[in-house]
Amino acid sequence: ILDLEGTNYTYTPGQSAGVVPPGVDETSQKAHNVRLYSVASSLLAPEPGYENRKTVMLCVKRVKDKHWDDASKLYSGVCSNFICDLKPGDSVQLTGPAGKHFALPENTFDYNYILFATGTGIAPFRAFLREMEAAGGIPDRAKVWLFFGVRFDNEILYDAEFKALAAKYPNFFYRVSQSRTMQNPDGSRKYVQHMLLDYATETLPLLQLPNTRIYICGLKGMETGIADSIKKLATDAGVDGDTLLAQATQKERYFEEVY
Ligand code: FAD
Repeated sequence: ILDLEGTNYTYTPGQSAGVVPPGVDETSQKAHNVRLYSVASSLLAPEPGYENRKTVMLCVKRVKDKHWDDASKLYSGVCSNFICDLKPGDSVQLTGPAGKHFALPENTFDYNYILFATGTGIAPFRAFLREMEAAGGIPDRAKVWLFFGVRFDNEILYDAEFKALAAKYPNFFYRVSQSRTMQNPDGSRKYVQHMLLDYATETLPLLQLPNTRIYICGLKGMETGIADSIKKLATDAGVDGDTLLAQATQKERYFEEVY
């Protein structure tokens, strides 16, 4: 949680904050590039414990990978480690926010939503749901499905918050797939896109409605699996897969932020 009090920095859910890591890039000796992080909060819904302050929450995965030059060493991602190592009182230089397209529409509750997240891709959806809550909560006329894909159960972020929302709103559906511990009926690993098929009786009619919006955020490549599932959902029900996919991914109802 970064304190924005006293700054003119504002943002809306779906946008990403740019973080400028201090120091210079070892190779170029130039200042580090900005890295983007999706905001996980809403300015309309102050975080518990920060009721009177303007803040932004980021949800950052610490990057540690095998070093390209020497596999016995670890490479630490520059910006993610900078953020994860911050101490209370440290300063952070922000840019942006960036992004206009990946956003809730003006008349938010005139639409249904199917949200697909993997890993830190959950961040913007937590922000969307905080914003919806601040706008009075999800009314009966709007259905919101949140499909969250992780590998293991210790990666299920904001689980308690989403469960509390699901208990409060009968038209908010929260489902998690764990690829390393859950399987499809054919024995394959259960990824986020497979849940669309698990709940076919609800998701197919929803996708067929013109006011249903799809948002995808997280690991690059997840969008391909989701497209395949949309087609399969249709063909399993005797509907033309290409037609449903074309309808569901029209640019005014389909939003993707993968990295
Ligand atoms: P870098 O130092 O930039 O390294 C990047 C990658 O290159 C790493 O995977 C690293 O393993 C590899 N690499 C580089 N050099 C080496 C080397 N010598 N040896 C081995 N590997 C190497 N991230 C989040 O955690 N949360 C978010 O909400 C989020 N939102 C995003 C939104 C958008 C729109 C975009 C584009 C990206 C988002 N990201 C998010 C990703 C984020 O911007 C950074 O890319 C990520 O944190 C890694 O940055 P870094 O500086 O830690 O790693």
